[in-house]
Amino acid sequence: MTSSDEKYKQRMQRKKEHIDSKIAEANEERGIVILITGNGKGKSTSGFGTVLRCVGHGLKAGVAQYIKGKWDCGERNVLEKLGVKFHVMATGFTWDTQNKELDTKAAQEVWAETKKMLADPDLTLVLLDELTYIARYGYVDTDEIIEALNNRPKMQSVIITGRGCPQALADIADTISEVKDERHAYRAGVKAQIGIDW
Ligand code: ATP
Ligand code: MG
Repeated sequence: MTSSDEKYKQRMQRKKEHIDSKIAEANEERGIVILITGNGKGKSTSGFGTVLRCVGHGLKAGVAQYIKGKWDCGERNVLEKLGVKFHVMATGFTWDTQNKELDTKAAQEVWAETKKMLADPDLTLVLLDELTYIARYGYVDTDEIIEALNNRPKMQSVIITGRGCPQALADIADTISEVKDERHAYRAGVKAQIGIDW
């Protein structure tokens, strides 16, 4: 072995020892709350990617979509066929409806279904897509959301996506990832497109 091979081996050995000791330290088994937030693109796609990961292992997952676009969602078309239940807000974007009473009613209906999912121990993962806006605009009381999350089955994980999460809700998350907006094609005039943006 050359000396550079030897050095490489030693470096990798030290790295492995460090990683193994960190793995040994993390031994608690429970579901977690993951918040995917920030202004960049990739929050909902990350949430749906984890739903796919879960279903791929034969585990059950459920989805609530709190801000429905005008267009149909590609992930839904696949995941429903795999047995994932979707609960979707009946109205379109809130800035389209411009009716607080209607938006509140639609959000409350999805919230009622969400509470059932958060009480179902068969669900390993629940994705609450764009939930942050529902809390922020007060369509559902943030304390009520926190209570339902805190009382969920021990092994159930929840992913919340959206910008501007109220601090109290962010405070109960175990993992928070912020997607940074460094650049977005939209600002260069590229139109949102099927298969990429929805
Ligand atoms: P995606 O669904 O692609 O993962 P997202 O969930 O991170 O995006 P949202 O804020 O939910 O982002 O955005 C909804 C729509 O706006 C999506 O079609 C998304 O591609 C697009 N979008 C996301 N980020 C930006 C941005 N910084 N500028 C313009 N459009 C964006
Ligand atoms: Mg999104």
